[in-house]
Amino acid sequence: MNVYDSARMVDVLVSLGFVSTERPDDADMVILNTCHIREKAAEKVYSELGRLRLLKEAKVRAGGRMILAVAGCVAQAEGAEILERAPHVDMVFGPQTYHRLPEMVARASRAAGAVLDTDFPADPKFDHLPAPGRAEARAAFLTVQEGCDKFCTFCVVPYTRGAEYSRPVDAVVAEAEHLTGAGACEITLLGQNVNCYHGEGPDGREWGLGALIRRLAEIEGLERIRYTTSYPADVDDELIAAHAEVPKLMPFLHLPVQSGSDRVLAAMNRRHGAGDYRRLTEKLRNARPDLALSSDFIVGFPGETDDDFRATLRLVEDVGFIQAYSFKYSPRPGTPAAAMPDQVEDAVKGERLAELQDLLNRQQLAFNEACVGRVMPVLLDRRGRRPGQMVGRSPYMQPVHTEASEESLGALVALRIAAGYANSLSGDVVDRAGPAMNAGNPA
Ligand code: SAH
Repeated sequence: MNVYDSARMVDVLVSLGFVSTERPDDADMVILNTCHIREKAAEKVYSELGRLRLLKEAKVRAGGRMILAVAGCVAQAEGAEILERAPHVDMVFGPQTYHRLPEMVARASRAAGAVLDTDFPADPKFDHLPAPGRAEARAAFLTVQEGCDKFCTFCVVPYTRGAEYSRPVDAVVAEAEHLTGAGACEITLLGQNVNCYHGEGPDGREWGLGALIRRLAEIEGLERIRYTTSYPADVDDELIAAHAEVPKLMPFLHLPVQSGSDRVLAAMNRRHGAGDYRRLTEKLRNARPDLALSSDFIVGFPGETDDDFRATLRLVEDVGFIQAYSFKYSPRPGTPAAAMPDQVEDAVKGERLAELQDLLNRQQLAFNEACVGRVMPVLLDRRGRRPGQMVGRSPYMQPVHTEASEESLGALVALRIAAGYANSLSGDVVDRAGPAMNAGNPA
């Protein structure tokens, strides 16, 4: 979502005459778009700000200037503290205020002290943001939902992104048409809790994510639809049916479970038990037999015993994930779990994480190896490192390398998978893939 948000900030700033650059040293303005989900992510901001201070000072000495801004969830959570710790910062603004950038930039340019905007405005920013600029790639992001009301006890999102909000169906469809018109053929629908989407439909009723996906699937030129991130307890029958009936919906679902222990899940306030999760994944696979799952895990949540952790390993074995993110529990300021008594020692967290990742990596490799011989539609959206090499994504988000002509850049191409590795596949071009090829069915 930060990638999407950054692109929308660029859209706003282009109207002020800015162009984006890859090099901070010649920039008139540098915006750090930040993440607060774990401590490590937040810490990076201050070390990066230290480096940028030197650039800014060099620029000022040379008679130029640089506006230094911190955006995103660290800005939202820490606010004025950033200005205290890093007084060379000119602007601090949270995720719900990007549409006010022109005004903030004007104020910072007049240099009348630093600008701080961490409001949650009543009218959503989406009403004020310009339409996205040129699609950067054939695969685009589109935020349909933002914020969260679930209050998992470990999580900062409800405090940084704010309350749950869904964009109206018409606005989402218009943006999707705009993106496909500009060349995108794959769209990933984004939300902190994307499957509790309940935007206002053209009929005045609330539409769920399943209905939204069916509507988007009607858009010509849009070949692949994905969505992330989902909350297990909010997967409803309408969404499961969409997986069964909408071929453009990719057979890959990121469904964070966090833990396999009911005790820990309850302490996390997750609203699903390990049994619920097992049943849900079974239902999804009955609807779409070639569906594969990925997940998120937290190890060392306060009070997690060795038995709790074993339950997580069992769940991983039972469900079989083809990909996953796993993290040591990181206490976040202001969240209930940070104040829970029995915090787990870091060394124990480290051991559990290594054991879990070892199992997850083996499952990932096994799946990648099992893909050998299959023909998969791959969206070749970038050049590989070697000349004549292209890289793209399979329906399952695996990076796939192939030898292909320059004209195939941006094309959806059928590849026969020749090898499966730890983190990628390689394959050989079979034929250009048409829309009928997008389902990723075994050959
Ligand atoms: N909406 C998703 C969560 C997205 S946040 C859900 O409901 O599952 C992305 C991931 O970061 C989470 O799934 C979780 O695994 C991890 N995470 C969030 N807070 C964390 C914390 N305090 N410590 C460690 N990992 C955390």
